[in-house]
Amino acid sequence: MSLAHAFAHFAHQNPNLASFLIFMTSYHLSSFVFHLLDTRFPTLRPYKKYHSLPKSPSYHQMMARVLLNQFFILLPSMLLATHLGITYTTIYSPSPSTLPSVLAFVALAPLLHEVPFYLSHRFILHSSWGFRSLNHALHHSSVTHSALSAMYMSGPDFLLEIVVPYLVPLSVLSKYNLCNTATCIAILPVGAFGGLYEHSGYNFFEGIAALDTKVHAMHHRFYNCSFADGVGAPSVLDPMMGTACTGGPPIKAIRRWLGFKDVERVKKITSEMALDGDRKLNDSRREECSAHSG
Ligand SMILES: [Zn+2]
Ligand SMILES: [Zn+2]
Repeated sequence: MSLAHAFAHFAHQNPNLASFLIFMTSYHLSSFVFHLLDTRFPTLRPYKKYHSLPKSPSYHQMMARVLLNQFFILLPSMLLATHLGITYTTIYSPSPSTLPSVLAFVALAPLLHEVPFYLSHRFILHSSWGFRSLNHALHHSSVTHSALSAMYMSGPDFLLEIVVPYLVPLSVLSKYNLCNTATCIAILPVGAFGGLYEHSGYNFFEGIAALDTKVHAMHHRFYNCSFADGVGAPSVLDPMMGTACTGGPPIKAIRRWLGFKDVERVKKITSEMALDGDRKLNDSRREECSAHSG
């Protein structure tokens, strides 16, 4: 039996572990490649738009926290969800055909990811109590300067921003038999790549809405706009709720036509927290944010 066949057999029997293995390999390989681009490929510097600040954590400083989150929160959550029959149930029932699985993977999963991500990020992690007590500030100490920082966050933050928004779409697709073994396994590693890229500091596709890393970079700097995940996300909730830093002109235009007002860009609490971090930087870039938000 070839290695590929052996892995396919293992994956069919243990899709959660296979997904975790593929995710860990691709996540750490990709973040290391981005790290190499930072340090060894000066020719790509024009595409590196967001850089570390003096207090930003380094690649090596972030690694222990990232591994802790992945091994001690993500992996047990995946095993528990499988044990409870919430995810990966399709391997025990007739597998759905490829077309509905792929359609659900491309169109439905990102939407189902965006809802819990936006709600918990905006209303829990950025609430006056949540920002400090759940230590969302730790994730904001990265300014999207390093791909690895996509999962550099406190435990509760990791649970709300990574684990739950990953398990919700997976459980819905599993429940309605809309993901086969391959797409169930792929949701985590493919979804994670968007996070890696948007935290890398690079922006190779500026102006292409779905691939522009500016959206999440602005959230890291201004705290109270663009709460949805950026790259790879549908990004419909920010323009709908009036919290977009950039983008979403059709929905924003409809909102204005209906008479909805955008959320005030800089709230008192977020402004204070931002000032804690870097007063001058925030002040200067807040103007940039307003300019971009139109
Ligand atoms: Zn982030
Ligand atoms: Zn945030």
